[in-house]
Amino acid sequence: ARTFFVGGNWKCNGTSDDVKKIVGVLNGAEVPPEDVVEVVVSPPYVFLPLVKSLLRSDFGVAAQNCWVRKGGAFTGEISVEMLVNLNIPWVILGHSERRLLLNESNEFVGDKVAYALSQGLKVIACVGETLEQRESGSTMAVVAAQTKAIAERVLNWDNIVLAYEPVWAIGTGKVATPAQAQEVHTELRKWLHENTGPEVAASVRIIYGGSVNGKNCKELAAQPDVDGFLVGGASLKPEFIDITRDRI
Ligand code: 13P
Repeated sequence: ARTFFVGGNWKCNGTSDDVKKIVGVLNGAEVPPEDVVEVVVSPPYVFLPLVKSLLRSDFGVAAQNCWVRKGGAFTGEISVEMLVNLNIPWVILGHSERRLLLNESNEFVGDKVAYALSQGLKVIACVGETLEQRESGSTMAVVAAQTKAIAERVLNWDNIVLAYEPVWAIGTGKVATPAQAQEVHTELRKWLHENTGPEVAASVRIIYGGSVNGKNCKELAAQPDVDGFLVGGASLKPEFIDITRDRI
């Protein structure tokens, strides 16, 4: 069974006081048990140790990026080894903000996913099309190429959560309709079936991200191939709790 997954991507926001406040809210919240909903939050790098030390143990913690290979002379980068050393179990890779603003290619993201997995991290791997790509009818070709670059480098998908995040829905308030999300998730699962096999296709969680909030989450979560969410803006607010509770 695919345990429902709710990730909170805090992106490049907040001070240590903000972080303490958010963690305080999370720690006091009543949420479904871990086997019903898996909750993972992703603070900026510099706050990872703080969050790790304060956050309740039934919630996971994710980094927002990592270096592509073993650490070394790579100024400004954070290695997978460091995340492992800090007991950070998850990393978000291939977010569209990095693909588009920092020119991360499909191949580079695929290499990162493979290396992070090889060192024992779990990966939230993001894919998604721009508005222009959607309007020109290439949504599926784009997300398939992004997924293929991972599938070519990874045999075992047990520790991957695939996040479908249409770029046009991120931070815009223009959430995908439940039908739009379900359509791409179904296609992605079909792609996985054909290219990685039926077991992977049946077991990989495909989560949706892009303007998810406490109001629109219910209808999206009711779609059979939507296995959870990656939440940006709303993950900085108490509303995030409502999204984790949407299964009960
Ligand atoms: P918003 O929820 O702010 O649209 O961001 C989604 C996102 O990019 C999560 O990774």
